[in-house]
Amino acid sequence: MVMKCVSCKKKVETENYWVRFPCPACGEEEIIRCEKCRKLTVKYKCQKCKFEGP
Ligand SMILES: [Zn+2]
Ligand SMILES: [Zn+2]
Repeated sequence: MVMKCVSCKKKVETENYWVRFPCPACGEEEIIRCEKCRKLTVKYKCQKCKFEGP
């Protein structure tokens, strides 16, 4: 499985810094964000429960 930022779909494996955390709503889906999207607080969306968060 290729790990991609959920916001910009960029591969995070080549990045120095990125975060991975469980969806705050359902806790079942993993949210992966790259540093850029984290800094810009780009919205992310859970693929499972459709939760959108900053
Ligand atoms: Zn991103
Ligand atoms: Zn969710």
